[in-house]
Amino acid sequence: MANLNENYLNLQGSYLFATIAQKVNAYQEAHPDADIIRLGIGDVTLPLAPAIIDAMTKAVQEMGKAETFRGYGPEQGYDFLRKAIIEGDYKPHGIEIGMDEVFVSDGAKSDVGNIQELFSEDNIIAITDPVYPVYLDSNVMGGRTGEAVNGIFQKVVYLPTSAENNFSPEFPSDRVDIVYLCSPNNPTGTVLSRARLAEWIQWCKDNDAVLMFDSAYEAFISTEDTVKSIYEIEGAREVAIEFRSFSKTAGFTGTRCAYAVVPKEVTAKTKSGKRESLNPMWNRRQCTKFNGVPYIIQRGAEAVYSQEGREQTRANIAYYKENARIIKEGLESIGLTVYGGVDAPYIWLKTPGTMTSWELFDLLLEKVQIVSTPGSGFGPHGEGYLRLTAFGSRENTIRAVERIKTLQF
Ligand SMILES: *Cc1c(COP(=O)(O)O)cnc(C)c1O
Repeated sequence: MANLNENYLNLQGSYLFATIAQKVNAYQEAHPDADIIRLGIGDVTLPLAPAIIDAMTKAVQEMGKAETFRGYGPEQGYDFLRKAIIEGDYKPHGIEIGMDEVFVSDGAKSDVGNIQELFSEDNIIAITDPVYPVYLDSNVMGGRTGEAVNGIFQKVVYLPTSAENNFSPEFPSDRVDIVYLCSPNNPTGTVLSRARLAEWIQWCKDNDAVLMFDSAYEAFISTEDTVKSIYEIEGAREVAIEFRSFSKTAGFTGTRCAYAVVPKEVTAKTKSGKRESLNPMWNRRQCTKFNGVPYIIQRGAEAVYSQEGREQTRANIAYYKENARIIKEGLESIGLTVYGGVDAPYIWLKTPGTMTSWELFDLLLEKVQIVSTPGSGFGPHGEGYLRLTAFGSRENTIRAVERIKTLQF
């Protein structure tokens, strides 16, 4: 008989987006003519840049000729892409990363979930609250969280982030072995300062913890006082793994390409106290369970670093950032309190007065036909907030803000 991985039974239903869809569908049915604007989407909407399409088209043609056809590629990614990543994302910041420390993948979501295979089940993990749900759920599956009581996992260390601590979590007071940080943050849209991230690196060293640093939104950063890569901070190579993605940077959410950086210095201990480098383990894991990103897609990703590709993708990011500015300033102009929206495509709106996240969600849907995401869906400390996204069209963004401005809070 096959026995079950019972950890899966500890997973909490992902009611958030199902409930939102249900509410929106019910509203649309009751009001067939309603012109609903969706500011809840966490997905890019602009098409891929022409330079990327050209590169992928060329690669498609190569696949059709015997002389240039490619079968299995290197599991870690083609050299041309890993080189472009190092030259484009790290060298300009004075960061030295080895070719064998970059692992190209089909997504930061997969990487963030898969990396925990390298760690024993008794590790204690810390996540922020609110949080990108993948960090939590993948660890539930790995048996590292214990059971949930009223939605709170007993073995997880939650780090509350809200306006009260300026969206910069305190260090855990309990033992923690693995910390997940996301900056710029989904869902709050805020960034951690360079100084605070340096303190986190020191904390990880002092506590022999590994930092999982998710910088999927680094392309949106305009604030000076933060980092694009965790390796801008001295000592980070000893404790931090970085996850990056072409998804939000270059519109690859449907095309799929990302990468993880696993420096050779990052280690974890065996039960008998021997240190092992995680880099060869991750390499082995990828070679065994992953056969690489398609050549065509990797050529597309490489083109992101060409001069044209850079300019075109930057223009797309600027478009979303302008949407974010319009939302942020529009809401502020009617006295609402908002966070984020400067270094990320997310605006984290404080609900007025004592309104709950879902109450404001309902009000926006029913009064002005706008779909948002209730903050409480990302964790208990998301209660009292609402997430709006800048991934819509300019026209809809402007219309949505004009509608919200007609409301009395
Ligand atoms: C969108 C997103 C990613 C990117 O995931 P992919 O699998 O590369 O598309 C990673 N982390 C966070 C927090 C995200 O919001």
